[in-house]
Amino acid sequence: MATKSKRGLIKLDAELCKGCYLCKSVCPLNLISISDRLNQKGYHPAIYIEDDIGIKEHKCKGCALCAIVCPDIAIEVYRE
Ligand code: SF4
Ligand code: SF4
Repeated sequence: MATKSKRGLIKLDAELCKGCYLCKSVCPLNLISISDRLNQKGYHPAIYIEDDIGIKEHKCKGCALCAIVCPDIAIEVYRE
């Protein structure tokens, strides 16, 4: 029986982000970009590009690579 592929999403706390972009470098689907604005620490935080679209349209599979590499624990991963 075919199983439905899971969809995921991440919550990225821009104020915890120190702009190392490790998350961006490891996302296999290129779903993380860099914000134009500065956070309160003075870094351009990483941003999750699917933030504004419904989960049914998400490419993110919730693989969690981005969260695992983040040294500042700024990313939480959810799957449904
Ligand atoms: S890995 Fe963490 S600290 Fe580095 S850019 Fe991504 S969210 Fe920011
Ligand atoms: S959970 Fe995986 S697919 Fe989703 S944004 Fe993070 S690295 Fe990319």
